[in-house]
Amino acid sequence: MIKKSHDEYEMIVAGGGPAGLAVAYSAWQNGLRKILIVERDKYLGGILNQCIHPGFGLEYYKENLTGPEYAWRFIEMLKGTTIDILTDTMVLEITKQRDVHIVGKNIGYCILNAKTIVMATGCRERSRGALGIAGTRPAGVITAGTAQRYVNIEGYMPGKEILIIGSGDVGLIMARRMTLEGAKVHAVIEIMNRPGGLLRNVVQCLNDFDIPLLLSHCVTNISGRTRVESVDVSKIDENMKPISGTEKVYKCDTVLIAAGLIPENELAANAGIEINGADTSTSVPGIFVCGNALQVHDIVDNVTVEAIKTGETAAKYAITSR
Ligand SMILES: Cc1cc2nc3c(=O)[nH]c(=O)nc-3n(C[C@H](O)[C@H](O)[C@H](O)COP(=O)(O)OP(=O)(O)OC[C@H]3O[C@@H](n4cnc5c(N)ncnc54)[C@H](O)[C@@H]3O)c2cc1C
Repeated sequence: MIKKSHDEYEMIVAGGGPAGLAVAYSAWQNGLRKILIVERDKYLGGILNQCIHPGFGLEYYKENLTGPEYAWRFIEMLKGTTIDILTDTMVLEITKQRDVHIVGKNIGYCILNAKTIVMATGCRERSRGALGIAGTRPAGVITAGTAQRYVNIEGYMPGKEILIIGSGDVGLIMARRMTLEGAKVHAVIEIMNRPGGLLRNVVQCLNDFDIPLLLSHCVTNISGRTRVESVDVSKIDENMKPISGTEKVYKCDTVLIAAGLIPENELAANAGIEINGADTSTSVPGIFVCGNALQVHDIVDNVTVEAIKTGETAAKYAITSR
């Protein structure tokens, strides 16, 4: 049954990751009292829950925290507020009239309305399909973030003999993580002539574990009947084309793809809402977007700063339209 509620919220936040938590708390501090956070996962905290490595909060807290520790600080701050939280609940749709369609196990399908909406839905990973790698379609090709969730939250090892595509921070961190869990990481393959991630991650995640980083190289083929069996890698020329004669075959059972993140902003796109880009506003007054849904941030501290500012702006908007 679809329930429609005109019990207006002053703010509804889609996504309970670091951006959503900070935006809601900031709006509370700036005077809003009827705030709802809707999170599709079982827990608040977003991607931080699976990032059990340190390196978070160096700028914002001047401390070296793990992802869950960083998230926990914001979750604790919410406890002294009246902010409503719905986990296990998905925002399906928003409209220009600021209706928010949500569905969850405990509440069914509801349509709520809010003076302000903030989309803090994070980002998604680029998959094999987006890279157009030739070869068969065996099991064992997954994104690095999915592997991270399997290992750090679900308790599964996705493979033993690993090749990683992409040297952004996610790829580097997973090279170390898989090694610590007993897998052999044969190499990290990077198409650019420099690593994509932070220098500290190259040193701490690859160099310290003798994991080769092949710059200006690309994967040209993935082979295997049911499971990945081998991967072909070539050096590339200045036109990004594989150089014949440089092919090397890696025997492995798993390929982790860490080839970039894409802001998750389908809610806006489906509603015909344009994201401004210069700041966190959109083409509809009162509807905002922040965090990785706006642009991919390398470090969470910047997400927090941006979200706090968005909370202030959105609170001002809601208060003036009371
Ligand atoms: C592997 C990895 C390593 C990292 N390492 C570091 C590091 O060392 N130091 C550092 O500072 N930063 C690091 N980061 C970056 C940092 O984690 C992100 O910048 C930050 O988590 C982004 O916050 P967010 O709230 O925008 O997105 P997320 O954390 O992705 O949160 C978005 C939330 O929205 C929810 N959601 C999405 N769509 C919906 C919907 N329709 N309805 C309801 N809920 C929805 C999701 O379930 C999720 O909980 C790392 C990131 C990754 C992936």
